[in-house]
Order: sequence, then structure tokens, then C-alpha cells
Amino acid sequence: MAGVYVHIPFCASRCLYCDFFSTTALERRKEYVDALLKEMELRKGDKTDYGTGEVETIYIGGGTPSQLRAEELGRIFDAVYANFRVSENAEVTIECNPEDVDKCFLDGLRKLPVNRVSMGIQSFDDERLRFLCRRHNSEKAINAVHILQDEGYENISIDLMFGFPGERITDWEQDLRTAVQLGIPHLSAYSLMYEEGTRLTKLRDAGKIIPIADEESLAMYTLLLTYSEKCGYEHYEISNFSKAGYTSRHNNCYWTGVPYIGFGAGAHSYDGKQLRRWNVSSLDSYMKGVNNGESYFENEMLSERDIYNEYIMTRLRTRIGIDLGEFECIYGEDEANALFKEMMERHISLGNLTTCDGHLRLTRKGLFISDSVMSDFFVV
Ligand code: SF4
Repeated sequence: MAGVYVHIPFCASRCLYCDFFSTTALERRKEYVDALLKEMELRKGDKTDYGTGEVETIYIGGGTPSQLRAEELGRIFDAVYANFRVSENAEVTIECNPEDVDKCFLDGLRKLPVNRVSMGIQSFDDERLRFLCRRHNSEKAINAVHILQDEGYENISIDLMFGFPGERITDWEQDLRTAVQLGIPHLSAYSLMYEEGTRLTKLRDAGKIIPIADEESLAMYTLLLTYSEKCGYEHYEISNFSKAGYTSRHNNCYWTGVPYIGFGAGAHSYDGKQLRRWNVSSLDSYMKGVNNGESYFENEMLSERDIYNEYIMTRLRTRIGIDLGEFECIYGEDEANALFKEMMERHISLGNLTTCDGHLRLTRKGLFISDSVMSDFFVV
């Protein structure tokens, strides 16, 4: 097995744009952690093959894991290490929010095997942070980075967003400049998304906010590519940028089809071959299911078509791209191979794809229309 994911769905408040599974029912933290430990215990005997090797990455995500108390996080890590064989040099990430990074949090963090911190900063501009209903301000975000760095946590990733209503390209450049000046080695950068059902989308639909034009958003993405390159970051996945040696090993699992096992409400697992499993996205149903032996997850056996489409989509997201030798080995005899070759030639001639060292990857032009390039390859 390559990766262990643990979902912590608690948040102190809800952000304007959020469509993740999260809850503000903080009073339920203890019973949730109890259920998590029980799930790990239950799945020890799971006959499903999530791989037999050592765990190479552990990722505690959310929600807001830093809303758990130190002893609760300690219990989770103890259970992961008790139930799985964790590699000595495993990448161990915890997500946290800047407002939680204080002396008390650090005292707890020091006792955990965490060697990578991922922080949801989103912006260094106070007005935009207020707009998102985030609980931190720019000063708090910068302080949190300094506090972690002073404690020796140099493997820090931050999330940033661009494309806010009214945002200018110079505003976005200032956010990027701040991240670079802080010495952050890993950036995940996304355009503000209007997901169905969020308060953000309701505001847009009511005409209360006006999204920026597509051309402005594309200009911001272009700036992200050029600025990060100039500052020595490798653009290794559509939305991810890292200094040498700081790519996210855990996220690479998702993009290269290696097995991972997810614990907690809403968490997904994949056996690296055909089986996907996802736990219910409901605190009550998850805990009731785990505690009473009732169903709390669903399974899906991926069809050959799903596996092929996913292979194309996940590989093309990355800088490494599709290993054409590997593709030939897997799909050389397959019907999909003819479509693949046709699309490959077409998009190479359009300048959307290129080959290098036996790998097929998106060009800069192709990055801007990546969804449509990938979907041209899909078998329907
Ligand atoms: S902190 Fe993250 S998970 Fe929680 S509400 Fe905000 S965006 Fe959603």
C-alpha cells in the first residue's frame, strides 16, 4: 500500500466557497476519533488488497485537522502506526489553518511524526480573506509560516486562490510574491470555483457578485506559470508547483494509480486496480455504521473503460505525462489504442501535446484547455 488518508471533517466555521464534506459540530470530535480508530481496527482484516508494501505517505486532511486536540491527533497517529507498516522515511502531512498555528498547536505537533504541513492560506489580502469568510488575516497567515519555519518545519505547502471578483492581476502577483518571499517550497494554486450549492454560487446567481472574465482568469494562470518558473518552482501538476525535492508524494499516488486507503467520513480508497470505495459523507451515518456494524461505505468496480479514461486523465495532469512505453504495454492490443494514436497526432499537430523522452505531455498551450484535450481521448 502506498498511502493512508484520514479525513477530519471539523471546521470552526464554513467558508463561502466550500463544497467539501465538513461540519462545525466540534463537540463531536472525540466520538469521531473513537470511530476512526474503530474503522482502522475493522479494516485490518479487510480482504481487499490495498497493496501489501509499506505505507509511504500519510495524509491527515479535512475539513480542518488542526481543529482536533493534540491528544486526539496523537491517538490517530498511534492507530495508523499500530495497524500499518509505515516506512521509515514516509511523508507525513497534516493540513492546518493559519489561525490554529499557535504555541499550543506546536506543542502537540512536536509529538507527532509530521514532517510536512499543508496550510489553507488562500490569499494574503485581508479583504479577499474576509470575502471568503476565512478566519485568519494576512498577518496571521505570515506569522503561521514563520512559526512553523522557526520550529524546523521547512516542508510547507500552501493553498492559494486567484480569480476573485474585482481582483487585478497585480493583486495576484502580490500574493505570489509574498509566498515566494516566505520561502514556501510547495504551492497549490486554484482559480476560485463556483461549485453548486455553495453560498458563493448563490451570491453569483443572485447577481450580488460578478465573477471575473475568463480572459482575466487565464491571464492570472499565465502569470502563475511564468512567475513560479522564474522563481525556481517546477510545475509538476496542473495546479501544483514545487521547489526541487518538495513534490507531494501523497498526491502523486492519486495521479499515478497507486493504492491508498482512506479512513473517516467521506474518505475514498482505491486498490490500484479496479476497486474504489468511499465512506458516507455524513457524521451520523459513518459513526453509526462503524459502531453498530451497519453499512457505512459504497464500492464500485471500475470498468475497463473507466480505468482507461482515468489513466489518461490522471497521467496528463502531471508534468511527467503518459509513459508511451507503459501505455503500449497496457493498451497496445486494445481497441482504445487506435483512438489514442489518432488523438495524440491531432493534439501534437495543434500544439496542445508534445512528446519528450518517450512521454506524452501537455504543452503550455494545452494546459489552458486541458479538460477538452483529455476528454478527446476518453472512450464513452
Ligand atoms: S476551512 Fe476548508 S474545509 Fe473548512 S469550511 Fe473552509 S474551505 Fe471548507
